[in-house]
Amino acid sequence: MSGPLEFDTIIVGAGSAGCLLANRLSAQRGQRILLVEAGGEDDWFWIKIPVGYLFTIANPRTDWCFKTQPEPGLAGRSVHYARGRGLGGSSSINAMIYMRGQSYDFDQWAQLTGDARWRWNGENGQTLSIYKALENYFGGANDWHGETGEIRVETPRVKWKILDAWQQAAAQQGIPSIDEFNRGNNEGCAYFHVNQRRGRRWSMADAFLHPVRHRENLSVFTNTRTLQVLFEENRERRPSDQSAWANATLRARGVRLLKDGQIIEARARKEVILSAGSIGSSHILQAFGIGDPNHLAEFYVPVRQGLPGFVLILQNHLQLRTVFKIKNACTVNSLYANPLSRIGMALQYGLLRRGPMTMPPSTLGAFTKSDPSQPSANLEWHVQPLSLPKFGEPLHEFDAITPSVCNLRPSSRGQVLLQHSDPLQAPSIYCNYLSTPDDLDIAVKGIEATRAIMKAEALAAYAPEELLPGPAKVSQQDLEQAARELGTTIFHPVGTCAMGRVNNEGESENPFTVLDTSFRLRGVAGLRVVDASAMPTITSGNTNAPVMLMAERAARDILASR
Ligand SMILES: Cc1cc2nc3c(=O)[nH]c(=O)nc-3n(C[C@H](O)[C@H](O)[C@H](O)COP(=O)(O)OP(=O)(O)OC[C@H]3O[C@@H](n4cnc5c(N)ncnc54)[C@H](O)[C@@H]3O)c2cc1C
Repeated sequence: MSGPLEFDTIIVGAGSAGCLLANRLSAQRGQRILLVEAGGEDDWFWIKIPVGYLFTIANPRTDWCFKTQPEPGLAGRSVHYARGRGLGGSSSINAMIYMRGQSYDFDQWAQLTGDARWRWNGENGQTLSIYKALENYFGGANDWHGETGEIRVETPRVKWKILDAWQQAAAQQGIPSIDEFNRGNNEGCAYFHVNQRRGRRWSMADAFLHPVRHRENLSVFTNTRTLQVLFEENRERRPSDQSAWANATLRARGVRLLKDGQIIEARARKEVILSAGSIGSSHILQAFGIGDPNHLAEFYVPVRQGLPGFVLILQNHLQLRTVFKIKNACTVNSLYANPLSRIGMALQYGLLRRGPMTMPPSTLGAFTKSDPSQPSANLEWHVQPLSLPKFGEPLHEFDAITPSVCNLRPSSRGQVLLQHSDPLQAPSIYCNYLSTPDDLDIAVKGIEATRAIMKAEALAAYAPEELLPGPAKVSQQDLEQAARELGTTIFHPVGTCAMGRVNNEGESENPFTVLDTSFRLRGVAGLRVVDASAMPTITSGNTNAPVMLMAERAARDILASR
């Protein structure tokens, strides 16, 4: 590589958000775009075969393999914290569930950011219309869905007798069977829709990056680590220097990269966009002196831009994986234990692209309120026709299911902090799970509601026997302890560089606000963060589709400002 590397826009991270941004921004012919990805290509066959998450998660080839710090709320355990690494980012290893979030979430975002465009629909609300525009829905366009977008959404290609019975049992407990989620109010029980195309994973790289990779104005550097953002004094004001960039004293002018064992610099004439994910983006910023001054001082990192908003803002969902042994129905456990049926599954996949190998880990879902005072459903179940003694261990050899329940709007808050000033060293991740009385209470209610469903008549023929947490755990105290022992991440970290209300002078009344509603970072012109970090509050559901909503909104705002 010779000569200075110069682009208009540099996007750091080719994950869910980065792939969409690369697509949209490179559509403007005169603009040179660089997309930088620390991981490799996404051509490994286990990335494409849905059941391949068994081999991609916890594999350093495709996963950053972070670990949380020991969690006091999880009985001192440190949990594996998977984040995708490579083209497609986490969308190349995730569970493929397509879930938009609930209208309540986006109406709340509109209120927190003062930007009515986040509203679900109605006056100025753009959320539903953007989801429709992004979608290629198996059933064609209708009031809720679109068919001309890039994100393929399909129904699962395998059904399970035991999950059909679970759906009936949920209905007997007041959670109605519905056709689908994603209409704004998710209350009910249905098979999840998935990001797949004819039995193969449809990652955000498949949707947005591969179709445009040939564009001459788009360069993609894989196996290239961004070490830091380069800055200069902000001397000129540009038309886009509004809101969070008004009165900025610094301007991002490029990035320093580690590529092929060498440190190189790439300059950005217009902008640097961090899309390195909730862990990566806040880590890059803090390693270069943007963050809470007190924390940066601990690592002797000179403060370039003091933003106390990096304190206690990591939001994440915790899943409680209960396990019930069953009779009279088959699950993945027994299919996998038998070598003949394993061959059958492989043949079924190879010949028809059907069967258990097309399966997302969780196939059936349900949403309800933990109590009637909740503004919308705040519990989500992911029901798996399989079970393991512990997350990450081999399957049980007997038939069993895992109804995993999750509090969708936790009040516990965590942090991503430096562990070292060297950007190549992993950051410290503190989730602080179950650190509020409310979260503990909702965890107990979630386990009790799971038990009620498992006792409903529709499941009686399968003689469910509770293995985890186990029938001996009954008191509030027992169940709180059970939650601490069973709880693990469901891989939805968000909010580490949160959007909020920022006035025309670049000021915010909320110290936790890091970005304005167009993803501009306060006080540093030419720098945006567009990924899951930007969520002001975690959505009440899985997070990939909401990240795509944000990336599309960001792309529209950026293109409109040029
Ligand atoms: C195991 C798992 C299961 C999940 N299941 C679901 C699901 O079923 N449904 C759902 O909706 N959501 C799911 N999620 C969450 C969803 O995938 C994420 O919310 C979403 O992909 C986040 O997108 P992002 O753009 O913020 O980050 P990512 O997609 O994680 O992208 C960040 C990218 O930046 C790169 N990067 C990081 N640091 C650097 C650096 N210094 N230099 C260069 N590149 C860097 C990373 O390698 C990565 O490619 C799951 C996530 C995981 C990990």
